[in-house]
Order: sequence, then C-alpha cells, then structure tokens
Amino acid sequence: MAQKSYDQLLEHFKETACFQSMGSLLGWDQRTCIPPAGNVYRATQMATLAGFLSRRLSDPKLGEMLAAVESSSLVADPLSDEAVNVREWRRAHDRACKIPESLAKALSQAASEGETAWETARPANDWNGFLPFLERIIDLKREEARALEIGAEPYDGLIQDFEPGESARNIQALFAELSGPLTDLLQRIRESGKKPDAGILSGNSPISAQNSLIREITQRIGFSFDWGRMDKSAHPFTAAIGLGDVRITTRYDENSFVSALFSAIHETGHALYEQGLPPEHWGTPRGTPVSMAIHESQSRLWENMVARSAGFWSFFYPTARECFPWLEGVSIEDFHLAINEVSPSLIRTEADEVTYNLHIIMRFELELALIRKEIEARDLPDAWNARMQAYFGLTPPDHTTGVLQDVHWSGGSFGYFPSYALGNMYAAQFYAKAKGDLGDPEVLFAGGIFAPFLSWLSAEIHQQGSRYLPRDLVRAVTGEELRPKYLIDYLYNKYANLYNI
Ligand code: ZN
Repeated sequence: MAQKSYDQLLEHFKETACFQSMGSLLGWDQRTCIPPAGNVYRATQMATLAGFLSRRLSDPKLGEMLAAVESSSLVADPLSDEAVNVREWRRAHDRACKIPESLAKALSQAASEGETAWETARPANDWNGFLPFLERIIDLKREEARALEIGAEPYDGLIQDFEPGESARNIQALFAELSGPLTDLLQRIRESGKKPDAGILSGNSPISAQNSLIREITQRIGFSFDWGRMDKSAHPFTAAIGLGDVRITTRYDENSFVSALFSAIHETGHALYEQGLPPEHWGTPRGTPVSMAIHESQSRLWENMVARSAGFWSFFYPTARECFPWLEGVSIEDFHLAINEVSPSLIRTEADEVTYNLHIIMRFELELALIRKEIEARDLPDAWNARMQAYFGLTPPDHTTGVLQDVHWSGGSFGYFPSYALGNMYAAQFYAKAKGDLGDPEVLFAGGIFAPFLSWLSAEIHQQGSRYLPRDLVRAVTGEELRPKYLIDYLYNKYANLYNI
C-alpha cells in the first residue's frame, strides 16, 4: 500500500518537475532573447503555468498518499531516497495548500511584469515609474507571507523557498557575528595605505576574445558545453532547464573582460552544481539542489576562492595575455592584486569579497523591514541611501546605481538576499574542509588541474541533492555547525597578505 502510494507520488512529482522545467525554459527565453512586444503574453503564459502547478501541487489526493507513506517503514531511515523525497514533497504540498491559486497566479503575473518594468526603469533611473510595480509585488508578498503562517515572523515563510529550515532570527545572529569583523577588516585595509591600481584592468576587450577566454576557462574547470550553453543577458544568471541542459549567461563590457569573466565563473559554479546532481534522481528532491545558499556557496567558491587566487592565475594568465595582448604590460602580481581590490562601492554584483557581505546585510535589513511593514516601498530610496552612508560612507548619485540596481525585488524574490552571504559562509567552511582533505587545492589550480577539487565538491555536495537540509549538510560535510568564523578567517588571512596588514 505504502509502496504503491510512493510510486504514484513519484510519477506525479516527476511529471510536475517536467512542467516546472518548461517554465524554466520560458523564463530563460524571456531574459535572453524575447522580443520586447512578447513580454505581455509571456507574463500570461507564466501565470497560467503557475496556476496549473498550484492546482497540481495542492491536489488533496497527494495529501492522502503522503500520509500513507509517512506512516510506513518506507521512510524509517530519514536519509533514504524515499524519506528525502517524501519530506520535500510534503513541504511543497503543504505550501501549495496554503496559497490560493488566485494568489499564486497574481504573484507570477506581478513578478513577470515587475521584472519587465525594472529592465526599463533601471537604465532610465526611473524610480517613480517602477514604484507602482514594486508596491504591487510587496502587497502580494505580504499576503503570501501571512498565508504561509510559519512562526511569528512573516518573513520566515518567504525564506523557506530559498533556505528551507532557516529563520530571520538565526540569520540576524550570524550576520551580527559577521558584520563587526568585516567592518574592522575594511577599516584596516583602508588604513594600510596600499591602493591597487584597478585601472590596469581596462583595455580593448572585443567580445569574441572575451568569449574565447571564458569558454577556455569554464570548460577547463569542468563546465560541459554538451550539457549546457552560454548566452548574453542584462543580469547574469543560470537556468537549469532540464536533464542535460544547464545554461549560463553573462554580460560584456568592451573596455574590460574582467566583469564578464568573473560573472561567467560565478554562473559556472552554479552550473557545476546542477550538472553534478545525480541524474538517476532527476525530477525528484533527491536529485535537486537543496537551497540557494548552498547554490551560492558553489558559485562564490569558484568565483572567489578559486578564480581570484594566485595559483589559478599563474596557470591562466598566459592564455589571458593571448586573448588581450595589452596585458603584456601588466605584471601578474599587479593583476592579481587589482582583481582583489577591496574598496567600498555602489554596486553589489561588482563588490569585492569583504564589502559584498555588507551589501547583503543592508538588503536583508531592508526587506525584513518591508515585510514587517516597518517601511513602505516609497521609503526605500531614503532608507537605502542612509544605509549606504552608514556601511560604506557613500551616497549613490542616482537610483540606477542605488535602490534600482538589483533585479530580485522586482520579481518578488524577498528572502533571497541572505542566501548570498550564507553562501559565502558555507563556501569558506567547505573550502577549509576540502583543504584538509586534499591538501592546498591552489597547488593543483596552478597546474591547471581542477578535477580532484570538483570531484570532492561533487561527492560531498552535488551528489547529495536535497538529502540534507543546508544546516545538516554543512554538519555532515565538515563535522561542525555553520560558523562565520571560517569566512572571517579566510578573509583576514587573504587580505592581511595582499595588503600587508
Ligand atoms: Zn549566484
């Protein structure tokens, strides 16, 4: 009986995953190549699919089948494939039951429209034009948070979509531990008197040359172009479309290849996680990434710990010089220092490893206040600028480089931002463990050898899918709770060396 129910659930959810993957393809298409006039109908397509998925996931028959399996010996071992799948199917079903179909559709519609409005408003510095879209999405997210009823803090319901098991309170505790040492490190770096010359990173960078360097590097570290592709978009992202189809995007600046390259490596980190999932579990939680923070741990790890290391560049710098001959005039030491420059700046996606987390902390504070109704959308520009001043001593000259810079809120992704800083913490803790297990991976990177490190990540993290919740995964891999200490130690060691402090 329980086995029969499980088999039916498996079929139902695998088919659901197939419909979800069609949504991913529509989303990828919308962000890379849809003609402008196609956006309106695309929003309708996405909302229709969201309504359909909402009905599928809230089907009362699922509740009965889940109950039959949950009371059986089939899930006695909580780490078995069956138990893991049932745990996550239950979560998805309960969530869908709490959100009326009309709200699910309205959220999807508002998210599509919001993202489209943001794409126009951001370059035009048009806060007032964007505000009604943001107000609409915030109203709906508050309604969703109330409907989810997870704990006393409405925001906690929203985080679950990105970080199952996490809470605002726990995040606040981690961020409180992190922000003091980071601010202190930033201060010491500023007082060091050492100022890398970031100007040396600018030079004629034809897109075709950027493309070939990016392809060379991403392929070498393990991205499979048989299982994926790379395109251009306004905001770089990774789309896991389906088994064998994981796509990344980047954006180009013809005056410097550096931004496109690091964006592409970041997205490659996401893609390696997706390409490394156990294919036999495709379409089930056991074969699905567990959270955005674990996802970000992979992207940030490759982007920063690997691709900003001296070892990595001792291998790739000759190739970079072939693509961009003007690098002949830039020593590898100066290049390495410049790509690791720490300097408070306006834009999160361009931020260095030290200030990056402060960008996240301020966004977390703002979105928590929004969902709590302590502030309203119209208050955001002032609240944003006040925090930029407090954390960085900077005031954005316009909304484009201020409150309008990120896509997340326009698409309703409230609760996503913490994943980046949590991801940095997970990354540092995983990296410390990998070093203990493999020896210093940088020695391998210097020889252009990435397979042992990728295999380690794959076995410890990618192949686990959603077997463990994020906090359990870090305990299983490293033997310890998630601790900001690893990120703080990593940053202090690295930057004490680079800045002679
Ligand atoms: Zn990312």
